[in-house]
Amino acid sequence: MLVAVNEAEQIINLLEFSKSDLTELVGQFLRCPACKSQVRLKNGHVKMPHFAHVNLAACQYYSENESLQHLTLKKRLYHWFKQTEQVKIEHFLPELQQTPDLLVNETIAIEIQCSHLSIQRLRERTETYRAHGYTVLWLMGKDLWLGQHLTQLKQQLLYLTQNAGFYYWELDLQREKIRLNYLCHEDLIGRLHYLQREFSFDVGNLLEVLRTPFAASSAKLTDQLSQDIPAFIRSQLYYQNPKWLKIQEKYYQNGQNLMTFKNFPIKLYPIGLNLLTHQFEGVVEPDFCQITSDISRYYHHFLAYPQDDGVYPPGFYARAETGDGDCKS
Ligand SMILES: [Zn+2]
Repeated sequence: MLVAVNEAEQIINLLEFSKSDLTELVGQFLRCPACKSQVRLKNGHVKMPHFAHVNLAACQYYSENESLQHLTLKKRLYHWFKQTEQVKIEHFLPELQQTPDLLVNETIAIEIQCSHLSIQRLRERTETYRAHGYTVLWLMGKDLWLGQHLTQLKQQLLYLTQNAGFYYWELDLQREKIRLNYLCHEDLIGRLHYLQREFSFDVGNLLEVLRTPFAASSAKLTDQLSQDIPAFIRSQLYYQNPKWLKIQEKYYQNGQNLMTFKNFPIKLYPIGLNLLTHQFEGVVEPDFCQITSDISRYYHHFLAYPQDDGVYPPGFYARAETGDGDCKS
C-alpha cells in the first residue's frame, strides 16, 4: 500500500514524497486508512517504498503482496492523470468498503489488474461500484493480456461501445504504453481477432485516451481466416474436445451431422455469437459483467447484414439496418 494516515488524520501519499523526504515519516505513528491499525514504512532496496501493517492479521481493504508491476503501473498512471485531473491513489471508500487503485474526479474508479481474480469477486466489485454511481475501468497487466483465446475471466473484462465494438484495455509497463484492443471478434473455431491502438505513457490526456472507444470511427477489421474449418472440427472431435462434442450433440439432436454440415461461412463473429450453436438456440445473450447495454440488438443487426470481406463496429450495422446512412447517432 502507498497511503497511510498520520496522527493529524492527514493522508500520507508516498508518491508525493521524494526519497530524502521519507525520513520525515520515521518515528511518526501511521495507520491504515481503512482498518485503522498501525502500519510501518518499508523502504528497502528491492521494492518501492510502501506501507505494511504491523500486525500480520490480514487487512481486507489493502493488499500488501502487490507485485512491482502493479505498484509501478499505479504510480505511473497516478502521475499521468495528475497532469489534467483530480486523482486519489488507494482511496478507501467506506460506503463501498472498497479501495480503487485510482479514483479520478471522484467518479471514475481505475482498477489495475495484474493477476487472476475470481469472476465472483470481479462481479461483486464491479456491481458495488455501479450501485454507488461510480464508473469502473479495469486495465490489465501482462498476465491478463487478451491474447488469442478468450477465457471466462477475460470475457467479464470486455467493454462495448457503438464505435469500438467489444474492447479490452492492456497496460504494457516494459514498453510504457496503454493499449486498446478493439473490434474484438471470434472466428468459427474460437480464435480472437481484433485491432489495436497504443498510447505512450505521459503523452496527452489520459482521460481522453480512455474515452477513445466512444469516439466516432470508421474502423474495419479484415483478417485472413483459416479456410479449413471441417478439418479443424474433425480433429477436435477425434481428440474428444468437450466443447466440440457438445456442439456435435446439438446437431444430432436436430437431426443434422456437424461433420457433413457444409454451410460454414468463413467469417468473423462478434464475441458470444457462435454461429455453430446460435442457429439452434436463437440469439442468446451471453453474460458480460462490464456491459450494461443491449447486446442482442447488435447481434441481430450483425446477422441481418450481408456477408462482407470485413467486420465493423455495432454502430455501422445499426445504421445499415435503419437506413440511416452515415448519420451519427
Ligand atoms: Zn488495514
